[in-house]
Amino acid sequence: MTLTLYNSLTRRKERFEPINPQRVGMYVCGPTVYDRAHIGNGRAFVVFDVLYRVLRDIYGKEHVRYVRNITDVEDKINAAARVNGEPIAALTARTTAAFHDDMSVLGVLPPDVEPRATEHIPQMIAMIERLIASGHAYATEGHVLFAVASDPHYGQLSRRSRDEMIAGARIEVAPYKRDPADFVLWKPSAPDEPGWDSPWGRGRPGWHIECSAMSETHLGESFDIHGGGLDLIFPHHENEIAQSTCAHEGRPFVRYWLHNGFLSIDSAKMSKSLGNFFTVRELLDEAPGEAIRLALLSAHYRDPLDWTDERLRQARHSLDRFYRALTLSRDPVFECFGEAEEALRPVKEALEDDLNTPLALSRLHGLVGAINRTSSDAERSALQRALEQGGRLMGLLEQDPLVWLRGSTQADERRIEEQIASRAAARHQRRFAEADKIRAALSAEGIVLEDKPDGTTSWWRKD
Ligand code: AMP
Ligand code: ZN
Repeated sequence: MTLTLYNSLTRRKERFEPINPQRVGMYVCGPTVYDRAHIGNGRAFVVFDVLYRVLRDIYGKEHVRYVRNITDVEDKINAAARVNGEPIAALTARTTAAFHDDMSVLGVLPPDVEPRATEHIPQMIAMIERLIASGHAYATEGHVLFAVASDPHYGQLSRRSRDEMIAGARIEVAPYKRDPADFVLWKPSAPDEPGWDSPWGRGRPGWHIECSAMSETHLGESFDIHGGGLDLIFPHHENEIAQSTCAHEGRPFVRYWLHNGFLSIDSAKMSKSLGNFFTVRELLDEAPGEAIRLALLSAHYRDPLDWTDERLRQARHSLDRFYRALTLSRDPVFECFGEAEEALRPVKEALEDDLNTPLALSRLHGLVGAINRTSSDAERSALQRALEQGGRLMGLLEQDPLVWLRGSTQADERRIEEQIASRAAARHQRRFAEADKIRAALSAEGIVLEDKPDGTTSWWRKD
C-alpha cells in the first residue's frame, strides 16, 4: 500500500518515503501548558494521532517514534501564573495532567517520547552557541537573536514576502535588533521570571528554539514528518527550519510538513485569544469523548471544520450504528481473516490517501450496511472484524459495544425526556408550532410519542 501525504513545503500530495522504514520519525508541536485544551487543540492532536496509528500499522509499532513535546516555559505561562497567583511549576504540572486526561478521553495515544522544554535547556543553549559560532545568530543586551539575513532559504515554508513576514510575526522593533525580522533565541529573565544561567546571563529560551532542540535530541538532525496546526507555519515552523538547518550546516531537517486546518465556530477560528472556545472538558458534559473524536474526524484534516451541535449529534448516531452492528451474532469458529482483510482494504486506502477520514468513515458505514444485509454468519464475522479494525485505525470502536450502547441510551433517554417536557410545556402554553417542531425533530430520530387524550404525553418509544 502507498501512503500519500500533502506536504506544506512543496504544496503537493507526495508519496511518503521514510528516511529509514525501520525508524520512522514524527514530531508534533505539543501544548503550551497554561490552560485547558480547547477542542481546536483537540483536533490537532486527534489528527496526528490518526497518522501515528496509520504509520504504526504500515511500518510496525516498534519502527515508529512519535515525539510530541510539552512547552512548559513560555511567556503565556508566566502571565497566567501571575493572574492565578500560582507558582509556575504548579500551574504547568496541573495543566499537563489535565492535558493528559483530555487526550485520554479523546482516545489519543501517548506519544513515544514527550519531552519537556524545561528539561532540554542545555541542548537549547548548545544549539544557540552553534548558531552564533556559524554566524547565524548574535548576542546583544542579554538577548540572542537569529539573523534572518544570514539564511538565504528563510521563508521557504511560508513563501511570504519580507514585508508580510514582518507584519505576520507582529515583530517587536527593538533597538538591539540588526533587522526587524530577526527573532529571539534567548532572552534575559527578571528575578521573578523563570531563568537559567547561560553564556548570555540568566535568561530563558524563545519558543522556536525549544522545538528545534527537542526534535534534534529525540529524532536526530533529519527526520520524516513534522506536524502542527496551520497557524504554526509562520513564524514557528519557518523559524524551526531556519534554526535547525543552520545549526546543522545546511543538512536537511524535515521531509514532510503537515498542517491541520482550523476548527471554527460560526466561521471564526476557535482560539483562546478570541474567547470563542470551549474546552474538551466542558464538552464532555454533553457528549462522550469518542463522539467528540469522531466529530473531529468527520472533516478532512486540511479542511476547516465548523463545530456545530448537529455534527456532534451525527457522530453519536454513527457510533450507535457502528456499535450496534458489532453486537450482532458472530460465527464462534470464525477463521475468515482473508475476507476481513479484503473488506478492510478500502478503509485503509482512504486513510492512506492523505488521511481521508470522512471517506474512511463512510466506508465504515458501508461495512455496517453489508453486516446488516448478510445472512451468513461467517461473512458477518469477517465484516465485523473489518469494522473493528478500521475503527481502531482511527482510534474508534475500542470499547465494549454494550458499554457504549448502554451509556448512549441513558444519555439519550435524559435528553428525550427533556424534549418531551419542553413540548408539553409549549402545548400547554398554546405554542403549537414550537410543539410540532419538537415532535418532528424527535420523529426524525425515530422517536414516536403517544399522547394521552387529555393532552399530556404518557410514553414514548423508539421506532
Ligand atoms: P497551542 O497550545 O496553542 O500551541 O496549540 C496546540 C495545537 O493546536 C497547535 O498545533 C495549534 O496549531 C493547534 N490549534 C490551535 N487552535 C486551533 C484551532 N482552532 N483549530 C485547529 N487547531 C488549532
Ligand atoms: Zn513547535
